[in-house]
Amino acid sequence: MPSPSPVAVAAISENPSGFAARWRAFWAPPEQFLLDAGKAGEALIGRIRILLTGVLLLIPISNMVVAPRAQFQEHLIGFVITAIAFVLSVCVYVLIKRDRREPWLPMATALFDVTFISMANFAYAFVSNPHVTVNSKVTFDTYFLALGGTCLRFDKRVAVMAGVAAMVQFSAIVLFVWMSYPLQMQPTDADVFNPYGRFQWADQISRVILLAIATALSVYVVGGIQRQRELSNADPLTGVFNRRFFDDYFATEMDRAARFGSEIAVAMIDVDHFKQFNDRFGHAAGDVVLRRVASALQLAVRRTDLVARYGGEEFVVLFRGASAEQALALVESIRERIQSASHSIGDNRPVHVTVSAGVASWPAEGRSVGDLIATADRRLFEAKEAGRNRVVGPAGPTQS
Ligand code: GH3
Ligand code: MG
Ligand code: MG
Repeated sequence: MPSPSPVAVAAISENPSGFAARWRAFWAPPEQFLLDAGKAGEALIGRIRILLTGVLLLIPISNMVVAPRAQFQEHLIGFVITAIAFVLSVCVYVLIKRDRREPWLPMATALFDVTFISMANFAYAFVSNPHVTVNSKVTFDTYFLALGGTCLRFDKRVAVMAGVAAMVQFSAIVLFVWMSYPLQMQPTDADVFNPYGRFQWADQISRVILLAIATALSVYVVGGIQRQRELSNADPLTGVFNRRFFDDYFATEMDRAARFGSEIAVAMIDVDHFKQFNDRFGHAAGDVVLRRVASALQLAVRRTDLVARYGGEEFVVLFRGASAEQALALVESIRERIQSASHSIGDNRPVHVTVSAGVASWPAEGRSVGDLIATADRRLFEAKEAGRNRVVGPAGPTQS
């Protein structure tokens, strides 16, 4: 199992203060569950992309059939570009459907969409009329569809990158066409016959500003969706995931592990004699300790693992791609860390708490989520029976 992530992110992300912290938080990858949720959006965009490039392919094909011989080459270029886009769209869809969690895929597909629109717009300068490129009626508007689609990926970084790419590419194309072609700059009688009008810098600058506004809106929308999703999946006291989310996610994760033949380990972790702790130091002090235990767990596991509050003073951790031995070693180190942490409560006397845990692994120890949780729970009970402050795995307690 890879070493723990140096920066564990709580299910409710803290509000960073200071520019540098905000900047880092902005560019940090979203929680894995948001990236997974973005996959559904990615698949939808993938289907739309295939449909769109498929329909676009019909245009050069029909043009090649009916157009005069002289324009055949232009339509052939259009056909080749669209055919490449169609084939790439199918390949991207196959990748999405493989469900392999490629972290670069949303970035790559968003960039692909924006670049394809830019290429289509640019092609008009060669095959048709440069005024179509700079004053296009439909192609430019499709940038907004691509930028809107980035919201479905639930990743602010993708929204920013796609927006910046659209602005840079569009500006570069306008500049190139302006330098390369004699564009009509002044109003003349010919305007009446030119449906694409004359070239004005004010129009082009307005378009870039519109792209910037659309990008800012997408980032804002993605931020709002992320926050809402994180809040609805989080336990309000500790900030880790809640049980409802854990149960849903565990089932999905197991399906995925079954498909890819990977392992999953689960640990049930319970604070020892917590009722006594509450009785002695008060409920508020108990709450502080629960938060500390949650953050100790969160800090110890990898980004891809999942910590949830399963009930009162009981937590559950899902270790992706980990064997029982690997999970046991990590839970044992967490237990030691919690035991050695001292809490200053009330009259500042240092107080210690301990935890007991049960670990079980899939597929070796149960076929279903329920089986696995039941096995981990039974081992937790064994750990309690054996005197608490210990971890029990398939081979019994790790300490006595
Ligand atoms: P054991 O070692 O067998 O687990 O004993 P225990 O006292 O920890 O277990 P028991 O189930 O008897 O008591 C659990 C206690 O956890 C009782 C309850 O007051 C406390 N608890 C549950 N949720 C919260 C909470 O949100 N905040 C605080 N402060 N205490 C909580
Ligand atoms: Mg307890
Ligand atoms: Mg309990």
